[in-house]
Amino acid sequence: MGRTVVAGNWKMNHGPRDAEAFARALRLPHNPELEVILFPPALSLSALEQALAERDFSVSLRLGVQNIHWEESGAFTGEQSAPMVAQTGATHVLVGHSERRQIFGETDDDTRRKLAVAAAVGLIPVLCVGETLEEREGGRLEEVLRRQVEGALDSASTREALSENGGFLLAYEPVWAIGTGETATPDDASHAHGLLRKMLQDRLGSDSVDPRRVPILYGGSVKPGNAAELLEGADVDGVLVGGASLEPDSFQRIAEAAG
Ligand code: PEP
Repeated sequence: MGRTVVAGNWKMNHGPRDAEAFARALRLPHNPELEVILFPPALSLSALEQALAERDFSVSLRLGVQNIHWEESGAFTGEQSAPMVAQTGATHVLVGHSERRQIFGETDDDTRRKLAVAAAVGLIPVLCVGETLEEREGGRLEEVLRRQVEGALDSASTREALSENGGFLLAYEPVWAIGTGETATPDDASHAHGLLRKMLQDRLGSDSVDPRRVPILYGGSVKPGNAAELLEGADVDGVLVGGASLEPDSFQRIAEAAG
């Protein structure tokens, strides 16, 4: 796989004015093989898009949202739908992030429906999967990842829509490493990514997206100091960065670690 993806998930941080300041301060390396994707809060998307448009970066720079509803429209106060997001400058969407699963009680079925609606409108989903500490210590890593991957990609029509609309990305984010300062070792990450690549091969078969072309990102306390060694791991095609993506300087240093 050629390109390396460095994605930043701002979570519930940075309003429109902060997003503009971030865009003005951001420096990115000249690397044609690098793809940067920023996931600001939806409220800050337009300000970030406009401020970035005034800059001249030589890398592919995309924007995404952190969540969508599984329905296309309706009486769901406070929610945003995939067709609405498709009318903005966002091309990507996080689906199944562990904070959505753990804090907001989202199930594998919710994730499956969100992936379907994203694919249907041509948004590129980043499907987040990962095990809790209890699951890991109970020897259930493979079982949990398989359940999450196979559940999300269960529908043939979703797989077809994904293949027609630009594919998708997978993010391996062990729950015990998100926002905790604990990071998987490069060997842990490579091992899980190898399992995920095999699951994609089993699940996607020949009728859909080429499983070898689905980037698999590692996420979980990635920082400037550990990004390079994580990115060297087999089957690690990029990183999804939370806390360390909030400051332009640390995000820049992680992007530089990508090559
Ligand atoms: C995330 O939110 O996807 C994430 C990886 O967070 P952090 O880097 O802060 O662990």
